[in-house]
Amino acid sequence: MPQKPGPLLQQTQNRIIPMAENKSAPPKPSLADSIQYVKGVGPKRAGLLEKLGIACVEDALALLPHRYEDRSRVQTIGEIRPGEFATFRATILNAGTIRLGRRRKVFEVIFEDDTGTLRGKWFQFREPYMKERFAIGRTCIVSGKAKDNTYLGAGLEIVHPDVEITEEDAPATLEIGRIVPVYPATEGLHQKSLRTIMKTLVDRYAPLLEEYLPADVMKRNKLTPRVQAYQDTHFPPPGTRADHLHLFRTRQQVRLVFEELFLLQVGLAFKRKHAWQEVPGRALITRGELIHRFVKLLQFEYTGAQKRTLGEIMDDLEKPRPMHRLLHGDVGSGKTLVALTTLLTAVDNNLQGAMMAPTELLAEQHYLNLLPYCNKLGVKLDLLTSALPAAEKQAVQERIRTGETQIAVGTHALIQKDVDFHDLGLVVIDEQHRFGVLQREAIGKKGTAPHVLIMTATPIPRSLALTLYGDMDVSILDEMPPGRQPIATRSYDAKHRDGAYQLLHEEIKQGRQAYVVCPLIEESEAMPLKTAQEVHADLEQRFSDLRLALIHGKLKKEERQAIMTAFNEGRVDILVATTVIEVGIDVPNATMMLIEHAERFGLAQLHQLRGRVGRGGHASHCLLVTYPPLSEDAEARIDAMLKSSDGFIIAEQDLKIRGPGDFLGTRQAGMPTLRFADLVRDLRMIQTTRKEAFALIDRDPWLKDPGHQPLRQTLEDKLGGRLNLLNIL
Ligand code: ADP
Ligand code: MG
Repeated sequence: MPQKPGPLLQQTQNRIIPMAENKSAPPKPSLADSIQYVKGVGPKRAGLLEKLGIACVEDALALLPHRYEDRSRVQTIGEIRPGEFATFRATILNAGTIRLGRRRKVFEVIFEDDTGTLRGKWFQFREPYMKERFAIGRTCIVSGKAKDNTYLGAGLEIVHPDVEITEEDAPATLEIGRIVPVYPATEGLHQKSLRTIMKTLVDRYAPLLEEYLPADVMKRNKLTPRVQAYQDTHFPPPGTRADHLHLFRTRQQVRLVFEELFLLQVGLAFKRKHAWQEVPGRALITRGELIHRFVKLLQFEYTGAQKRTLGEIMDDLEKPRPMHRLLHGDVGSGKTLVALTTLLTAVDNNLQGAMMAPTELLAEQHYLNLLPYCNKLGVKLDLLTSALPAAEKQAVQERIRTGETQIAVGTHALIQKDVDFHDLGLVVIDEQHRFGVLQREAIGKKGTAPHVLIMTATPIPRSLALTLYGDMDVSILDEMPPGRQPIATRSYDAKHRDGAYQLLHEEIKQGRQAYVVCPLIEESEAMPLKTAQEVHADLEQRFSDLRLALIHGKLKKEERQAIMTAFNEGRVDILVATTVIEVGIDVPNATMMLIEHAERFGLAQLHQLRGRVGRGGHASHCLLVTYPPLSEDAEARIDAMLKSSDGFIIAEQDLKIRGPGDFLGTRQAGMPTLRFADLVRDLRMIQTTRKEAFALIDRDPWLKDPGHQPLRQTLEDKLGGRLNLLNIL
């Protein structure tokens, strides 16, 4: 383990929340104060706030309104139109409970001004309290969404309006005559109480927020000071445009997005600089004897993109510090060849190479792809998966330990602790579309700072690449090997799936092969879908002249391999499969990809599946069979597939349809939580903050400049845990 320099790499402790202090000395307010002791909170509400992730004052300040209500314009009742959000002053003309049948009751209040009346309705209420509050003749300010009363001619009504009892002509308050924030409320904590608490917080505590953005960054980007940004975002000042607030585009909101993304990027820049770049690694000799022999074996030339990428990789490997490079390339762009060339370079330096895949099947595929080359070159290749029989597994582990194994291919089993490498010099991680940041860090610990190449097949939206992988160097394979044919994509309503099958049959009669993919293997009560078994049986009947096979994850490895080999060698016409074939399968003669229940698949998955065809010299087809009704998202996914085959465009669409949270799947994927920024909305800001942050760390790598102390402190406090600054290699 390399020496960890400086305190910035120390684990930051959890914030300490002070207990109530004794009464004699009035405590100075602090951002770390427990929310419980803020005026108007108390233990019960503190418990509720905790549900929103709020423990201390600083957390609470970061809880921004999720929307706003524009109550700055006060109307008369006569001006209000149904469907509008309205605010008006009125007098209470009448109030009381009305029974609706035996159980249900409603409390109604008739509001009146010079221009008319409007009915307010409450379905949840305590009668004595309401009676007292809505005494006839009182004046008040009312707001809410007006609609036509369901009874003919009964005029306008508002259900559960916000009402503030006032003196006549009372001045503007928190609730009226302004743009009012609406917070993500929680059960038992009303909007109005929450708003009042927030107001106290903003007035009393927001001024304590320290400015930590460097002055030059503030100036260059014309940023609002921190305190003001918080205050105004919670309680927008007069003249703020409600539409800008809703788009999160006011100066003040933009400042908050900036600070969040900037901090993240400084963390990434820091990690890249100090963890990846300054750790000693082994400089390799590239383009050696083994590589020369390998290139002679190849039946084709590297593509331009492969050459460029390999050039970048070789440059990294020649340096005495570990490579941390992300190889980003669409399905079929030829990543495997880049991987193998890189692995062989390690072998040429008498070091071991490892290649990790996300699934057993994919590991097996990689193994089978690499094996012929390794055999011809006399390189010892081994496959290690958890599916191996115990004895065989032990034998492989032993070979890996003694160094007999020169390249090991496997799943995550490779990074389990009972695997010891003799001398691991280089790791290739084929992540496909999984974002396994944790694993990438785990494998690093297997050797002395090995070189790491991560390959991802699903093009990642740029905003995500810049955050999730923002600490790495990136290479892009943006050129397909020659001779690729475009893939025609069509969708079929299930009613018309015969048409799809006919097309399939015709293609096969031309000598091509096909995949038919289904979401499930066997019937499940929970999901009445076409299953792989069912479709397989159906097709056997339909096409008695064709040779079919069924493959899925429940088969034994040998069976799967036998079927794949048969399909590879053209002895099977149609391979009916579950998504086990999603990645890594490469049969150029297969030109048809038919996907049953395409509406059930994610966009990334659909794109991956489509990438299984279009690999040879023949035109290919992707047929999406859908079973209505389709959800709006499903429609959007199918639509994206029909419109584009560019992985990057697909990925951007996917992010838009799913939203960042779902797109990333789990928190554990390594993505820090973003409270203000949005990966879809804020790409430009990501780029701007990245440039600023990386330039800053270049100028002042350890943030030693006195002007950078607040930033340094904030980074230590806030990002330490989240960004995992410490658990790095
Ligand atoms: P990826 O892993 O990026 O999806 P592969 O590495 O499986 O793509 O490559 C897809 C196909 O392209 C394979 O059949 C591979 O042999 C072929 N291929 C790779 N590089 C070249 C090249 N430079 N010229 C011709 N074919 C290539
Ligand atoms: Mg591949």
